[in-house]
Amino acid sequence: MRPLRTYRVSALVLRTRNLGEADRLLTLLSPERGKISAVAKGARRPRSKLASLQLFSLATRLQLAAGKNLDIITQALVRLSFPALRKDVTRFAYASYFAELADALSEPEEKNRRLFDLLVYGLCLLERGLDPEVLARAFELHIVDLSGYGPEIEACVSCRKPLAAEPMGFSPPSGGIFCPRCLAGKRGLLSIHEQARQALMALRGLRDLANLQPEKMALSPNTKKEMERLLHAQIAHHLDRKINSLSLINRLRSQGPQGEQPARSAG
Ligand SMILES: [Zn+2]
Repeated sequence: MRPLRTYRVSALVLRTRNLGEADRLLTLLSPERGKISAVAKGARRPRSKLASLQLFSLATRLQLAAGKNLDIITQALVRLSFPALRKDVTRFAYASYFAELADALSEPEEKNRRLFDLLVYGLCLLERGLDPEVLARAFELHIVDLSGYGPEIEACVSCRKPLAAEPMGFSPPSGGIFCPRCLAGKRGLLSIHEQARQALMALRGLRDLANLQPEKMALSPNTKKEMERLLHAQIAHHLDRKINSLSLINRLRSQGPQGEQPARSAG
């Protein structure tokens, strides 16, 4: 029998599922190879050297052996495990949402360092306690931009003139905003005001998420709502799957502000 081909990557755990008696099946996002499905054998045994490979763990020097169907993790060094966001149900829900979006918008064998970096930044900022709602808008806009589905928010999607005058309307199938002249007679548009459009432009202008300062943006509840509606409509239009963690976020929001609550166990 020939020895298995091995390789090394850095990776973040996007998804975990129990497998057999003590194994864990992991979906990993790596900058070098995109999405990888791999088995961590014995990882559910407390003394396993792979036990620390859990949901959201960021591991470097992850060594894998290429299998026929699934790759096998043989070594891992967990660098970041994001303990604070695991202890807070709201932050945990947003972290799950970020990971689910990255999962939906990445492919196996597709190198994507920028997507990987975006997700790691997103989780680090959640861990630090940044306002998750504004952070989520920045994350959504940057991830759709990276994936080539970024909405047109600078110029009218029809006449290409710069936007500013109201009323304006966003069309998910057109992927952009119509100016007051061009929106006449259009149906199914989402109303958007200049404040929300400007805020989205500011989020797009951030070189990376680490520069985000939600408290300085002073967004009104209505502006936040318009930004969210536009981005969610844009994402829903381009994804062929439902993002399950959004319903958890919405449920938590409808219950109002809560204190620190233990998140459900990860894996
Ligand atoms: Zn126009």
